[in-house]
Amino acid sequence: MTAGLEFKVTKSDHAKPDAEREEILVNPAFGVNFTDHTVVIDWTLEAGWHNARVEPYGPIMMDPSAAVLHYGQEIFEGIKAYRHDDGSIHTFRPTANAQRMQKSAHRMALPELPTELFVESLRQLIQVDAAWVPKPENEKTLYIRPFEIAAENFLGVRAAHRAEYRVIASPVGPYFTGGIKPVSIWVALDSARAGKHGTGEAKTGGNYAASLLAQNEGYENGCSQVMFLDAESATYIEELGGMNLFFVYKDGHVVTPSLDGTILRGITRDSVLTLIRDRGIPVEERKVTYDEVRAGYNSGDIVEVFACGTAAVITPVGQLKSREEIIGPENPQPGELTVSLRQELTGIQYGRVADRHNWLVKLG
Ligand SMILES: *Cc1c(COP(=O)(O)O)cnc(C)c1O
Repeated sequence: MTAGLEFKVTKSDHAKPDAEREEILVNPAFGVNFTDHTVVIDWTLEAGWHNARVEPYGPIMMDPSAAVLHYGQEIFEGIKAYRHDDGSIHTFRPTANAQRMQKSAHRMALPELPTELFVESLRQLIQVDAAWVPKPENEKTLYIRPFEIAAENFLGVRAAHRAEYRVIASPVGPYFTGGIKPVSIWVALDSARAGKHGTGEAKTGGNYAASLLAQNEGYENGCSQVMFLDAESATYIEELGGMNLFFVYKDGHVVTPSLDGTILRGITRDSVLTLIRDRGIPVEERKVTYDEVRAGYNSGDIVEVFACGTAAVITPVGQLKSREEIIGPENPQPGELTVSLRQELTGIQYGRVADRHNWLVKLG
């Protein structure tokens, strides 16, 4: 029981048979298969949060006039459950996700879910779907997707008076298939994902929708991810469509774009900053121009670039491509710091490296 809310649990009577589930867990593709249950909490303007429940996974009954379908009033989170070698199940910094979701909710005029209720919702789901958390091998985890939608049936343009918080979960393997090899990045010169005072800092569906045109362009040019520059001047590097960026310089110092309101506050970014500082490596959060990065790549001053986020953890970045130029070596190798930070972070998450900052929370 949390915040006065007790979860009513209805077990699925059509859960996947063990053999079928185990087969999925051998090599789960990202976001394709889902567990047997889902968490739902209702919210109304009059009653606040109520009716917390665990239900069998299935389609959402929704009126075609539901506000989310028309005006995109929606937010989400991404967090993982890691099975440790002793079989226990843990998640990583859930309070940070809860707080970020509250900020996203505030920006998108949705109700803020209390932190305890967020963490309890993860616990409730793991309680019924623990068998879906893969064994700790080959970077497998259970990816958990909490989200909130405007559920009022009304076409008027105003903040909905009815909303739903939901949690679904999907067993996943490595985000990028083919091991830790550097990804090529498409630099978007004709589209931006976030403007000043816009929604760039909120984890909201529209930001992703806005990034897809450039992503298609990236795919056509052999790139799997897109780098966005600031919308106002196209001068400063912000981030990828769903990952934050770090640059490692030859003299050892590290730079990441500062959070100026248009960049998503990645929890992986924050954790990586802490791990870098723990090592005594100087790290700067500041504005980074595209020109500086081009010059750094060309002069050899920048020796490693990596992107980070919950889904892909830490991913080395190779070439930067745009319609104007290709920057960087043809055969990039993952950088030393990139690989070592990745090992340390995943080590902590899987319980194999000491959790010095108490980032893990046991779910089951
Ligand atoms: C979710 C997300 C990130 C990464 O955040 P994490 O908390 O590290 O997973 C970075 N950029 C964008 C745009 C995102 O949506």
